[in-house]
Amino acid sequence: MEKPEKLIVDGKRLDGRAPDELRPLKIEAGVLKRADGSAYVELGANKVLAAVYGPREMHPRHEQQPDIAVLRCRYAMAPFSVEERKRPGPDRRSVEISKVTREAIEPVLFLELYPRSVIDVFIEVLQADAGTRTAGINAAAVALADAGVPMRDLVSAVAVGKVDGTIVLDLTKEEDQWGTTDMPVAIVPRKKMITLLQMDGHFTGAEFKQALDLAFNACERIYEAQRQALRERYAIKQGG
Ligand code: UDP
Repeated sequence: MEKPEKLIVDGKRLDGRAPDELRPLKIEAGVLKRADGSAYVELGANKVLAAVYGPREMHPRHEQQPDIAVLRCRYAMAPFSVEERKRPGPDRRSVEISKVTREAIEPVLFLELYPRSVIDVFIEVLQADAGTRTAGINAAAVALADAGVPMRDLVSAVAVGKVDGTIVLDLTKEEDQWGTTDMPVAIVPRKKMITLLQMDGHFTGAEFKQALDLAFNACERIYEAQRQALRERYAIKQGG
């Protein structure tokens, strides 16, 4: 796609959103029969599935940790999820995202409860429009809770950035591509602890603070949607 002349016109973004507006968000828990826990997240045009298996015995055994469970995360993009077909299999980007996803989630888990075990989190991006790593973290947190894995809290995540000199929430692919800054953030909401913060581009100190405030506010809303998805899942179970 060619660079649009302007990404913000009369204070509105190309998709009609205000700078501090989140894309439409949908979260559903317990969508896969064979996984121990699962979740589906739509954020604008992003569609992401997370499946959790475990805690279960770690194989290969030489990767077992004697005192704790290992959290294993695998982020993958379907070949049809992006405009230009993505070659299947891991690449540098998916290895990096798998690693930062694990680091974003680990602090809320009680891994010491399950020595020699593994908890597997598979994140599958079915459709991508920027913000897939944060959508994946949101889905993974709900899937872990759905699996009954003991957690201190959920993890909520969103990207913020700068486009045409304006601080914006939840960038689209166009904004990510043509904007100046993209900063994905993950938060443990109750502790207000940041477990992921990456930045592509630059901010002044004041812009950074404004962007981080925006991310914290949006994560409150995402947290509520995550909890609502779990409440709905639980209500369905109760009804049989
Ligand atoms: N993307 C793509 N092909 C790729 C990788 C990424 O088209 O091989 C697109 C996709 O829409 C993705 C966006 O670029 O969501 C931004 O990617 P980035 O690496 O910033 O991660 P994300 O914002 O998805 O967490």
